This record gives sequence, structure tokens and C-alpha cells, in this order.
Amino acid sequence: MFVRDYHIHTKLSPCADRIFDVEKVIQIQQERGMKEIGITDHDFSYGYKAKRIEAARNAIKQCDASISVHFGVESHMLEYRSTSLNIQLASYFDYVLMAPNHYHLRGVAPPSDFKNPKKVAIHEIYMFEAAVACPITDAVVHPFVLAPDVFRFLTKGELSAFGQEVMRNIDQKRLIHQLDLVSQRGIGIEISPKFIRYNQRHLIEFYQLCLEREVKLLIGSDAHNAKQLEDLSVLEPILDELGVQEEHLWQPKVWQW
Ligand SMILES: [Zn+2]
Ligand SMILES: [Zn+2]
Repeated sequence: MFVRDYHIHTKLSPCADRIFDVEKVIQIQQERGMKEIGITDHDFSYGYKAKRIEAARNAIKQCDASISVHFGVESHMLEYRSTSLNIQLASYFDYVLMAPNHYHLRGVAPPSDFKNPKKVAIHEIYMFEAAVACPITDAVVHPFVLAPDVFRFLTKGELSAFGQEVMRNIDQKRLIHQLDLVSQRGIGIEISPKFIRYNQRHLIEFYQLCLEREVKLLIGSDAHNAKQLEDLSVLEPILDELGVQEEHLWQPKVWQW
């Protein structure tokens, strides 16, 4: 079932493995029998320069892959109506993954209190709304996933309980309204192996709600090294549990002019 992975970093991302280049990603994914993948380095990896973006696209072309390889990007919300990538540069990519909660990055509006689940919930839904309203967003990545490097003051077990508390404090009407907008606009919502790695079972209910509101799910490993490409397999039982079928999955639009 997992023949697609739309969220993969290469060594162009400063946070990725130095030997993890695009040739390597394609070679591994071909060997694993993947059919379609997306290279999605962080927007800052290109120094926001069109020339560097074009060079990266050409590097993919030169790989002569036997599988379909999209050229996407991961951008992030800074604030409502403010993103790390502008519309003009966004148009150089096949699709834009929007991260609503990259709090570890400079310029991203943080919750007023990281230790208060209610305050975190209010901020998470606000940033989610901002990502959905943003005109360049094609898919929202890891929404409501709480990263351990941000919530460092919590142990793994505590983070899991904290996540449940955050989710309980999310206004359901507001969330459903957003998911209906997401569905209408054909935006994807990422289901990431990170939520299992970080032990955040509270997201199961969120993904259930996505499916109820006919939202398409994007499958992405968010791999930053070769080993993490394998992480998608941990999603398999969860996708079974959720009853996810092929028709529930997001795919990038292919533009024909
Ligand atoms: Zn990264
Ligand atoms: Zn990523």
C-alpha cells in the first residue's frame, strides 16, 4: 500500500544526513518498490534563491528515475498571513507542504505558554487555521504533533499525556470547520510516523475526524536520513485500524497547461 512518500528531505536540508543526496533517495526508494515520491527540502535550504531551486529541480531530472519523482518544498507558517516562503518562489515547486508548528525555527510565533496545554491548544488551532488559509498550502504537515525537542521539559510518557490534554482543549467546532475547508480545497493532511515515534496516540482521533470530513491524508516519512525512509512501515497497522483506502490518500495535482 505504501508506494508513495511525499515528504523526504535530502542533504540540501541542513538538518538532514550529509550523505543523503537525491540520487541516493531515488535509488533506495526504487529498490524498495515505491512508485511515487516527493523531494521536499526546507525552503531555507535554497537561501530563497530561484537559481538554487532550479538547480535542485535539474538535479532530479538528471537522475533518470524509473519512478515518479515530484519536486516539492516544506515551508512553515510564521504567523497568520505570514509564511517563510513567498508566493512567487512557491510557484517554482510542484507542491508546498506547510508546517504550522515549527516552533524551533526563528520567527515562528510560539504559544504564550508551552507548559499550559490549554494555551498550546489555542495556539495550535490558530496556526492550523493560518496554514489552511494560506494560498500556497497544498498540504499541512504534522499538525498537532508535539515535537520532543520543543517540549524538552517533558519525558516521553509525559509528552504523550500532555498531547491528549492539548487535543481535549481543541475547540471541536472550530476544528471541524477547518477540516471542511481543507476538504473543499483539496488540501492534504499529513499522517506522519513521527506521531508513533513520539508516542502521540491522541492523533488517532484527529485522523478519524479527517476521514469523516472527507479530508485526504498525505503519507510522508519526513525522512532526514536513509533509515527514516523505512519508518513508513510503522504506519501500516494504524492505517489499517483507521480503514484508510487508496481513495483517502492525497496526491499532488499534476498541472496541465
Ligand atoms: Zn528538517
Ligand atoms: Zn520535513
